Amino acid sequence: MKKEKYDVVVVGAGPAGSITAKTAAERGLDVLLIERNAEIGVPVKCAEAVSKEIERFVEVDSGWVCAEVKGTISYAPDGTKVILSVEGAEEAGYVLERKLFDKFLAQEAARAGAEVLVKTQAYGVVQEEGYVKGVYARNAGGDFCIYANVVVGADGVESKVGRWGGIDTTLRLADVASCAQFLMCDIEFNRDYCELFFDYDTAPRGYAWVFPKGEHCANVGVGIGGDVSGEKHRAYDYLNAFVKDKFPNGKILAEMYGAVPLSGPVYETVANGLILVGDAARHVNPITGGGILEAMQGGEIAGDVIAKAVRENSFSKKRLQEYEKRWRKEFGKVLEVGLKTKNIVLNLSRQDLNKFFHSLAGGIRIKEFSERALLKEMIKKNPRMLFSLVRIMF
Ligand SMILES: Cc1cc2nc3c(=O)[nH]c(=O)nc-3n(C[C@H](O)[C@H](O)[C@H](O)COP(=O)(O)OP(=O)(O)OC[C@H]3O[C@@H](n4cnc5c(N)ncnc54)[C@H](O)[C@@H]3O)c2cc1C
Repeated sequence: MKKEKYDVVVVGAGPAGSITAKTAAERGLDVLLIERNAEIGVPVKCAEAVSKEIERFVEVDSGWVCAEVKGTISYAPDGTKVILSVEGAEEAGYVLERKLFDKFLAQEAARAGAEVLVKTQAYGVVQEEGYVKGVYARNAGGDFCIYANVVVGADGVESKVGRWGGIDTTLRLADVASCAQFLMCDIEFNRDYCELFFDYDTAPRGYAWVFPKGEHCANVGVGIGGDVSGEKHRAYDYLNAFVKDKFPNGKILAEMYGAVPLSGPVYETVANGLILVGDAARHVNPITGGGILEAMQGGEIAGDVIAKAVRENSFSKKRLQEYEKRWRKEFGKVLEVGLKTKNIVLNLSRQDLNKFFHSLAGGIRIKEFSERALLKEMIKKNPRMLFSLVRIMF
């Protein structure tokens, strides 16, 4: 650490933190990005799929892309298949190598001028006169305090920065998906599509997935509602049952466990001297569980707003609320509709879930691969069931 005071300290070097740091550094700010793990991007806690919308934020590099996919295939409990693809496009998305992708983003932040410290964990925020003014952190060199005009909580699903700064980030068990995933080889899988399996017996209040990671391997996972997880019926147990049934002879190369916040965004994402981005702000689409793109988009907005705040030397909650307004305008509605749709879909009986899939059967072709376009199409095909959502979305 070269200084004791920065314009901005970002806690957590996932996609949200790295993009915030990069954007702020590009605008000339003194930025420190800290990461508790020894290696950025490791351990991976992700199924690693994103739509082509990612091209809005970064130039895609074959170094961190494992597979290009044409879309998704979702299966109902009765096996009804819904193919989702993009009109006029061969490919609709990518499966990433997150351990390389996250490093690439942190490297971009560093190249823009941000200082990066790994193996450095924040354990509290400095508060003075009602403002967050820095973080307490520790690393191999001991405990220390870093001052900053703005602290960014980009510390993921387990975020503590928000709570330390007075923002309520509580997650109910029912609002968390508990996940387990194996990286598997020696299995037969669809190399062109990400496949999703919806069935209460396979994955209660969630779904199972098989995402291709190149020619030979796939991410095979299960996410279940946190409130239905328990002894002998954890995500891990459901995953073992799924794998035994589908890929009895497959080999497991890696195991991963993690949680996804499906609550919809926290009520407030800013406080005096403090901004929350990515999973820390619960910026994950509750219907898909995807949060990489929201983390990047929120990070870009946060970096830009912080740069303006520094120019104006104003770090009040009121000033930082520009961030809140902008992310709500960009993707707030999609998260809101995603939450309502999740609540409807999760409460369908098996029979109604099958009916829901029948209404979509034959496939959905959307004009662009965005969550907004997908939800719009689902609503169009289910006017009765989803009528109430239309007013919120448009
Ligand atoms: C099983 C699973 C599957 C998923 N699949 C997908 C998918 O296919 N597509 C998709 O879009 N999304 C997916 N997600 C969600 C996606 O991984 C997250 O939305 C995304 O990583 C959010 O980025 P982030 O930067 O906010 O948080 P993270 O990527 O979690 O990064 C937070 C960082 O903060 C660090 N940190 C935490 N506390 C501290 C501290 N006190 N001090 C310093 N550093 C700290 C952590 O070590 C971590 O590196 C999945 C999640 C899970 C768990």
